[in-house]
Amino acid sequence: MRIETCYFCSGPIYPGHGIVFVRNDSKMFRFCRSKCHRAFKAKKNPRKIRWTKAYRKTHGKELVTDPIYDFEKIKDTTIKYDRKVWVDTIQAMGKIEELKKKKEDKFFERRMKRAEKDKKKQMKSNLIKHSVLISDPKIREKVEKLKEEEDEKRKLKEEKNKNKNLNVGLNKIMDIEYNIKEEKNENKKENKKESKKDKKEGQKNSGDKNQNKKSKKKKE
Ligand SMILES: [Zn+2]
Repeated sequence: MRIETCYFCSGPIYPGHGIVFVRNDSKMFRFCRSKCHRAFKAKKNPRKIRWTKAYRKTHGKELVTDPIYDFEKIKDTTIKYDRKVWVDTIQAMGKIEELKKKKEDKFFERRMKRAEKDKKKQMKSNLIKHSVLISDPKIREKVEKLKEEEDEKRKLKEEKNKNKNLNVGLNKIMDIEYNIKEEKNENKKENKKESKKDKKEGQKNSGDKNQNKKSKKKKE
């Protein structure tokens, strides 16, 4: 008798329990209860539903990669009977279970330490937010000091973010483009002025030439 695991929540399915669904391509899906079966029929993704093992593993809430999980593996080949191996495995089972529990507990403690930090942060922000409600003047002073410190920190952060958002590289390119445009405009204006001057001078010259021609004619 084998204890199967639920396809949806990865819970144990003891003999005589649960539902089996066989797909068109003969793949077996086992479910521990109707809740899991219903969720499967509704095409829910177990990684996105909070009460499943898959969700907890993908979101770093449980130990996933550890050499202790390599012990338990299904083997298709049958092993030749050996009394020593048999005794060793039976004795090891309890020890491995103990080790597993210890490791999981340690992981849980580490996770909860981080959670405590977040909790403290939350409490701090709550105190600052509702500092008006504090009746004890001494505590209120402390909280107001905290508030000032937090404000300063926030301002510093905002300034840093502003500098980040400016994106110096882009700005430089924009500046260069702007300068090039201005230069072009100035060049155009100068060219126009020069061309106007040229035209005027040309007219003058031509006028001079005409006059010269006239004077020449007169001389003749
Ligand atoms: Zn299940």
